[in-house]
Amino acid sequence: MTVAHVLGFPRIGRRRELKFALESFWRGEIDEAELRAVGGQLRKEAWSWQKQAGLDFVTVGDFAWYDHLLNWAATLGCLPSRFGFDAQALGLPQYFELARGNAAQPALEMTKWFDTNYHYLVPELDAHARFDGGVDWLFEEIAEAQALGHAVKAVLPGPLTFLWRCKGEAGLDKLGLLGRLVPAYVRILQRLAAQGVEWVQIDEPILGLELPAEWLGGFAPVYRELAGCGVNILLGSYFESVSDHAALVKSLPVAGLHLDLKRAPEQLAIFLNDWPQDKVLSLGVVDGRNIWASDLDSTLATLESARAVLGERLWIGSSCSLLHVPVDLQQEEALDDELKPWLAFARQKLAEIGTLKTALEKGQAAVAAELESNRRAIASRRASPRCHDPRVAERLAGVGPEDAQRDSAFAVRAEKQQARFQLPVLPTTTIGSFPQTQEIRAARAAFKRGTLDAAGYRQAMQKAIRFAVAKQEALGLDVLVHGEAERNDMVEYFGEQLAGFAFTRQGWVQSYGSRCVKPPLIYGDVSRPQPMTVEWTRHAQSLTSRPMKGMLTGPVTILQWSFVRDDQPRAETCRQIALAIRDEVRDLEAAGIGIIQIDEPAFREGLPLKRRDWAQYLDWASQAFRLSASGVADDTQIHTHMCYSEFNDILPAIAAMDADVITIETSRSKMKLLQGFGEYAYPNAIGPGVYDIHSPRVPPVAEMQTLIGKALEVVPAERLWINPDCGLKTRNWAETEAALGNMMEATRLARLNL
Ligand code: GLN
Ligand code: ZN
Repeated sequence: MTVAHVLGFPRIGRRRELKFALESFWRGEIDEAELRAVGGQLRKEAWSWQKQAGLDFVTVGDFAWYDHLLNWAATLGCLPSRFGFDAQALGLPQYFELARGNAAQPALEMTKWFDTNYHYLVPELDAHARFDGGVDWLFEEIAEAQALGHAVKAVLPGPLTFLWRCKGEAGLDKLGLLGRLVPAYVRILQRLAAQGVEWVQIDEPILGLELPAEWLGGFAPVYRELAGCGVNILLGSYFESVSDHAALVKSLPVAGLHLDLKRAPEQLAIFLNDWPQDKVLSLGVVDGRNIWASDLDSTLATLESARAVLGERLWIGSSCSLLHVPVDLQQEEALDDELKPWLAFARQKLAEIGTLKTALEKGQAAVAAELESNRRAIASRRASPRCHDPRVAERLAGVGPEDAQRDSAFAVRAEKQQARFQLPVLPTTTIGSFPQTQEIRAARAAFKRGTLDAAGYRQAMQKAIRFAVAKQEALGLDVLVHGEAERNDMVEYFGEQLAGFAFTRQGWVQSYGSRCVKPPLIYGDVSRPQPMTVEWTRHAQSLTSRPMKGMLTGPVTILQWSFVRDDQPRAETCRQIALAIRDEVRDLEAAGIGIIQIDEPAFREGLPLKRRDWAQYLDWASQAFRLSASGVADDTQIHTHMCYSEFNDILPAIAAMDADVITIETSRSKMKLLQGFGEYAYPNAIGPGVYDIHSPRVPPVAEMQTLIGKALEVVPAERLWINPDCGLKTRNWAETEAALGNMMEATRLARLNL
C-alpha cells in the first residue's frame, strides 16, 4: 500500500462560503450557531472530497475561522496578555477581536507566511508566556471527522516554526520558552493519541531556511520528547529544500518526513540515500502552490523509482497545503476547453493524488483512462500555439544589455528633467489612485453586466478623472495623476489586456481572514496587443497644464501576484512582461506623457527563502524593471513605488532599478525606513510617504512637517519628493482632501525653511 494524503485543504469553500458567513456574522446578520454550521459544513465537504479521491487520511487541523496560527496560539493558550482573555474560555467573538482588533486593542500583526500570499496573525510572546492549554477546537474537529467515519491525520504547526514566526518582546530568548512549550505539545499529542489519532503531521517549514545553529540544535531534544507521546509524527517540510539539514533530519526520532518535491526535486536523491528503515518518506509531488495539472507520467516515473527503494514506506501527497490554490476548477464554466484541462485546483489535485496511488498499487492499467486524458492535456499544453509566440521569443532574443539601461546617468537625466518640468523644490505628488467612489464602482459593475455601454462607461470614467484633476489642481499638487478610476485591481487591469493571461470566476485563494484574492493565470508568452492606458492618461493630461503622471504596474509585481506558467523560468516570463510594459511606457511617452510611474509593490515579496539565492533573484528582477523603464529619453522621468517594505537589506538592488524617483511607505516607521537610504547613499530621488493612507485619520500639518524635517536630514532637498505612503483608493474624498491639504501646507512651510 502507498499512503496518500494532502498537507492541508482550503477552508474558504468553493464559493467562498466562509468569507460570506464571516462577514455576515461580523455585521450581526447571522448568529454564532449559523456561522458554526457553515464552518462544519465546509470541513465535512473537504473531508468527503479527500475520502472520495481515495486518500488514506483526511487532514484535520487545517481549518480556522480566521487563521490557523491564531488557532494554534488559542489551542496552546498563549494569547497576548494585552487583551486580557482567558484562552480556555475563549469564544468566537473574542477570537475575532484578536484577529481584527477591538476598541481598546489593535489586532495581532499580520505577516506573510513564508513566500506565499497568505498572511498569518503573528502570535505575541513575552518571557512570561504560558502554554497551559486553551480552546479544544482541534480535538472537537477530530471527533467530528471520526464520527463521520474518517481515518484522521492531524496537522499542527511545529514548536520551532511556531516560535520562529512569533513576535517576541525585545530581547526575548524565544528558544528559552521551549521548556514550557514542549510539555504543552506533549499534552496535546497525548490527547490526540487518546482520541485514537495515529498520525500527526507536525509542520516545520523553517527547516527550509538557513537556520542559525542554536535553532537547529533545538530540533533533536524537542523531537526526542515528542517521540514518546503515542502518536506517529510525520515531520512536514515545504516551500524549500531541507537538504542543508539532511543529516539532522534523518536522525530525528520521528516516524516520517514530508518533502516538497515541486520546489526542490533535487532533494529526493539526498534523502533516498540511506533513508532510515523505520521511517516513511512522504513525497510532495502535486503542486500546492500552483494551478497546473501534474504530468502524471513523469510523476509516476519518479514515484516508482522511489518505491523501489522505499517499498511500503513511500507516501505521496501535495507539495504543501492546498491552502494556496483555488478550490474547484469544475465551476469555471467560462474557461475555454483547450485551457481548462491544463489546470488543476485543490479538488482536482486530490484526484491526481488518488490516481497516482491507484497506479502505484494496482498498476497503470487500473487508471488508464485518467492517465490517457492527462497525457492529452500535457501534450496539448506543450504544443499549443497559445503558449508559444515566436515573435515574443525572437524579440527577447534580440534584447541586449543596452535595452535595460537608460541613455545617461541619473545626474544628467535629472538636469534635463528639471529643465523640462520646472518643478519647485520638494515637488508634491500622489501614488496614483484616488477614492473609488460608489459612483465609479457602480459604473464599472454596470459596464461588466452589459447594462452600460462603452461610451457611457467612458463618460463615467472621464467624469471621475475630471473630478480628480480638478481637486489636485485646487490643492496645488505639482505632479498630477488621473486617479485609476477605471482599474479594479492593479494586476488584473493589465492582465486583461495582455496576451498570455487567463482569468477565472471563482479562482479565489485566501489572503487573510475573509479576504481572498483571485490571481490571473499566465499560461502563454506575454505581449501587449495594443495600448492599455494611453487614452485615459492622454485625456487626463488634456485637462491640465501640469505634468500628468502615467501609471503602470511593473513586471515583477504582475508576475508575483499571478499564477505563473511552470514550463519556463520565472525570470523569462518576467522579461516578457517587462517588454510589454516597455511598449506601454514608450507609447505614453509618444503621447506626450513625460512622467511615468511603474509600481513595484511586490518587488521584495519575490525574495527567495534562502538568502544565498537572493542575489540571483534581485539581479533578474531589477533588470526586468529596467527593461520596462529604459526605452525612454533622458528627459522622461520614471517613478516607481513600493510599499510595506523593509528595504535596508536590498538597497543595492533598489538602486540598480535606477528609477528617477522612488516613492516608499515610511510614515508608520516615522521615517526610520529612510535611514538606510541615507547610509547607503542612495543616489536618485526619493518620496518617503509623509502620511499613512491605511487609516481614516487626517494627520495634522505639524506631524507631517516633523516627518519632512526628518526626511531632510537624510535626503538632500533637491532629491526629496513629498507624497502620501500609498494610493488613496480605499479612502473617501473628504479624508483625502483634508489630508492632502495638510500635506501641501506642511510642504509650503518646509519650503520656507529651506
Ligand atoms: N498606483 C497604485 C495605487 O495608487 C499603487 C498601489 C500599491 O502600491 N499597492 O493604488
Ligand atoms: Zn503602495
